Amino acid sequence: MDLTSIPIIDHHAHPLLKPEATADPVGFRQWFTESTDPVIHTEHVPNSLFFRTGLRWLAEMIGCEPTLDDYLAARAAQSYDVWCLWLFEAANISVLLCDYGYTGPLAYPHQAMKSLLPCHVEPILRLEVLAQDLIVQHDTFAAMRDDFVATVGRARRDGYVALKSIIAYRSGLAVEVVPEDQAAAAFIPLKKEARRNGQVRLASKPLGDYLLNLAVEQAAVQSLPLQIHTGFGDRDADLRLANPLHLRGLIERANCPLVLLHAGWPYCRETAHLAAIYSNVWLDLSLAIPFATTGIPTMLRDIMGMAPLSKLMFATDAFTMPEIFWLAARWGRWGLGRVLDEFIVDQFLTADEAWSAAEAILGGTARRLYGV
Ligand SMILES: [Zn+2]
Repeated sequence: MDLTSIPIIDHHAHPLLKPEATADPVGFRQWFTESTDPVIHTEHVPNSLFFRTGLRWLAEMIGCEPTLDDYLAARAAQSYDVWCLWLFEAANISVLLCDYGYTGPLAYPHQAMKSLLPCHVEPILRLEVLAQDLIVQHDTFAAMRDDFVATVGRARRDGYVALKSIIAYRSGLAVEVVPEDQAAAAFIPLKKEARRNGQVRLASKPLGDYLLNLAVEQAAVQSLPLQIHTGFGDRDADLRLANPLHLRGLIERANCPLVLLHAGWPYCRETAHLAAIYSNVWLDLSLAIPFATTGIPTMLRDIMGMAPLSKLMFATDAFTMPEIFWLAARWGRWGLGRVLDEFIVDQFLTADEAWSAAEAILGGTARRLYGV
């Protein structure tokens, strides 16, 4: 089953970096892993399937030898804007929902992303980054809280199509109901840190949990989906606390759609179970696709055997360079096509049903959920 003709709604991704950030082998290779260890980057990434197979596919695409030096030279010989356009069109991505909370001086801002890419680009509001900015800006807990509620409360009017939380990275997914006085007490040391450093990292569990519960209320008022990081990711995540089963309390309190990102990998079965039993839970496949590479069909068999096909959404979680978007789209279409082919052969689905499922997973479900 060739799914290339089905356009992708990439409902979770991050901004591209300016080309100089990924022009040399060190800058390019580091984005094929979630590790920040330079030894992993130089010695082991070249031996990962994601990098090695990806380099071969990219070299075929651009017409050079499958070595990193040859590929980077071929890439540098043409306009970066044209190469971006080419890869996004080949990936057939029609809409991109972009979380700018993962950024840096070399990341393209929203307007630049819109003019660079041949698809619609809509912004996602990252809650912890907003909270950190407001802790720096406001002197009192009450002023910070009120501004947080007001800003999240007008997110849809301000053009955001979703909220996003990375609380899994900070204090874990066991989000509790926190009394206001405990949240206010947690504000005091953070405010001191903000005065000292001019910035702050929100990792306090009482304050993080308190603000996330407020955001969920505001999301419900606007019918705005909330994306929650679950499962693997950067090295600063304690994977044990990123198990989506911890979210049960929040799921039962929330009256907004909750999109559990990255299939909760490696807790994919747990995530599939949550999507199967709670009507407000959706399962995103990004990051697990493409990083699981040859394991993608195994993951999809488990998930698709348990959760309704109407609950699954493909995304890339791509970042930094257009190659990652294209590779994620290719691995995703390959894995999904392979599993759906098996379902047809085994007569679990008709060919028409399999095609409809592919359309829903690659874009149809996200189009309806986010209203894009
Ligand atoms: Zn992400």
